[in-house]
Amino acid sequence: TAPSLLARRDASFAEVQEHYYDTPPQIERGWREHLVGTDGRVYLDMVNNVTPLGHGHPGVADAVARQLRRLNTNSRFHYAAVVEFSERLAALLPEPLDTVFLVNSGSEAADLAIRVALAATGRRDVVSVLESYHGWTYGSDAVSTSIADNPNALATRPDWVHPIEAPNPYRGRYRGAEAARYAPEAAAAIHELAASGRPPAAFIAETFTGNAGGIPLPDGYLAEVYAAVRAEGGLAIADEVQAGYGRLGEWFWGFEQQGVVPDVVAVAKAMGNGHPLGAVITSREIAARFRTQGYFFSSTGGSPASSVAGLAVLDGYAEEGLQQHAAETGAYLKGLLEELQTRYPLIGTVHGLGLYLGVEFVRDRETLEPATEETAAICDRLLELGVVMQPTGDHQNVLKTKPPLVVTRESCDFFVAMLDRVLGEGW
Ligand code: PMP
Repeated sequence: TAPSLLARRDASFAEVQEHYYDTPPQIERGWREHLVGTDGRVYLDMVNNVTPLGHGHPGVADAVARQLRRLNTNSRFHYAAVVEFSERLAALLPEPLDTVFLVNSGSEAADLAIRVALAATGRRDVVSVLESYHGWTYGSDAVSTSIADNPNALATRPDWVHPIEAPNPYRGRYRGAEAARYAPEAAAAIHELAASGRPPAAFIAETFTGNAGGIPLPDGYLAEVYAAVRAEGGLAIADEVQAGYGRLGEWFWGFEQQGVVPDVVAVAKAMGNGHPLGAVITSREIAARFRTQGYFFSSTGGSPASSVAGLAVLDGYAEEGLQQHAAETGAYLKGLLEELQTRYPLIGTVHGLGLYLGVEFVRDRETLEPATEETAAICDRLLELGVVMQPTGDHQNVLKTKPPLVVTRESCDFFVAMLDRVLGEGW
């Protein structure tokens, strides 16, 4: 018999290019928060943060298709859509963040943000946070320290990267009330680095601890760490690739939730609703310093098709009242999950804000022993019941709950009912 599509995929891809599940369903189309398999089955997509407007959004699809028929070219040509999109993006950011670079992905955005900081400061050292992920390119990978995403992250880290501990108030050194010590210790680490003769070009962090499990940063954390890096002449880089664009509901940007304004912002994922699009936004003054030291050009970053996708996404947000919807639906979903927590000891806690939630499974609420195998098995069972979900966190014991922002309450009810059923089967 002919090899299956999955076998052909595995034969032509490298092993490192993983897919969800050992035997994933083959999907062929999608509609809002639903995916449809080639077997005709409908799945609820509870883990997709690339399509805030949902799958198959007609506004984005039509805009891109129209643009592809008319013109799609190298972004060095002069055309209206890229200017219009850059203006609208910059208008979403506070002063003095008004200067835009368009790229194709989150990795490129994080990488470029680092390059901007290195060039603008003339330095080479960068402080990042353990258990974070910023991308696969050389620079973004170097500052990524998520063991789950890259088991060699620590061993292969170049010497210009200085990771500090993750601000996890649930487990580890900064558990509970200890979380208050986190920002002062991070600031002290930055001052020490500068005193040792290696003042950092930048501090880079997600504005919400995404890859470690969907955990909000302790209050005042970024304010204190940003102040420390600036006092040493470095820049504050905010990675908004996952947290930004309304994912946290009440706050369009994660840094707003922390009450700070970064010097450089990296964003991608949601911007194109699945079409490749990313950006770095900084001030004119920093961008001018980059100009004297560096060079930037991207053939397809901000192409006409990407720019109209970006515009159509922002139109879709406005038409759907998406940020408000995310805030309300996120609070509703969190309430349902917290109710489950009262009935199942396996749920150690429910992290998160807006529609970025993390259901953390533990074998013991005191020792917090991660329920890693259980989490994998629960995800497999959820798939059988029609829900797509993935584990996250360095122990892979957290349900990475981040559906398209258009998700309805009915879909949240369905997800929680299925999770209730799976947990009720006994773990
Ligand atoms: N930064 C963060 C916080 C991310 O979560 C990701 C992707 N998971 C990236 C950067 C890289 O984005 P991309 O996959 O689009 O290159």
